[in-house]
Amino acid sequence: MPSPVVTRCAPSPTGHLHLGHAYAAGIAWMRAQQAGGRFLLRIEDIDLTRCRPEFTDAIFDDLAWLGLTWEQPVRRQSEHFAEYRHALDMLQDQGLLYPCFCTRKQIAAEIAASGQAPHGFEGAIYPGTCRHLSRSERLDRMASGEPYALRLDLPAACRLVSGWPLRWHDETSGHQTVTQDLLLQGFGDVVLARKETPASYHLCVTHDDALQGVTLVTRGRDLFHATHLHRLLQALFGWPVPAYAHHRLLTDESGERLAKRKDAKPLRELRGAGLSPAEVWRMAGLAPFPLTDRSAAAKRDGVGDE
Ligand code: GLU
Repeated sequence: MPSPVVTRCAPSPTGHLHLGHAYAAGIAWMRAQQAGGRFLLRIEDIDLTRCRPEFTDAIFDDLAWLGLTWEQPVRRQSEHFAEYRHALDMLQDQGLLYPCFCTRKQIAAEIAASGQAPHGFEGAIYPGTCRHLSRSERLDRMASGEPYALRLDLPAACRLVSGWPLRWHDETSGHQTVTQDLLLQGFGDVVLARKETPASYHLCVTHDDALQGVTLVTRGRDLFHATHLHRLLQALFGWPVPAYAHHRLLTDESGERLAKRKDAKPLRELRGAGLSPAEVWRMAGLAPFPLTDRSAAAKRDGVGDE
């Protein structure tokens, strides 16, 4: 028997949801409905400096108002730091993590001094300064209370994984291959934990999709490249590789991507102005909602239109 489709919506409660979130949640929900599968809601609230409980409550409220239903209990990442710590320990035991004491300013200065500015998918590539510290210097600096982040030793991680290139599949863009060069040039030694955020997005999202048995990850195109790194984590931990459907991002009238930070109109404001859920789904491009016809959904979620 084929395994049932499990999709999820994984918002971060750093602000109120806007139309783009309704679209993302709607796509995941519909895909589960169409397949007779399961839809999960997960709260990605690891960034304790930016996430707020009132935004989590508002997520539940907004999605329920839109007519979505999800399984209980909802996983809240902030309640599972011990599990992420355990995953980090596994990497540490294999010598794949190292403490990095560099501040952002020091990294920028180091890059400027090198005369090169290698840019990856997420900005400047870390030059690897702290990868070369001796064990005793690491221990001394940690013992003295100097703040540090934990970085993945990417070259070492690549050496440990076999079966290159790694592969994953996106419904819109097709088969993807992940080479060691792509990871080294696209990410470098990524941060997997910081003092104020003890586990990174990349680690938690990949960990939880595996733990929760997610078989189809639907999310925005902005996270397309992140999946290359997630694929490496899956290989390191022996986690299953879900299917991916990176969908288009909703934009405003000027063509700019909707974003909480840029004051995209919150769903609750639309609701307060008297709009119905059906009207909001129409604005999000998912009307009539729920779509039960798979091909109509594909047309609307951007598959084939890029
Ligand atoms: N928590 C992420 C966000 O709100 C989404 C993660 C994902 O879908 O993989 O942007």
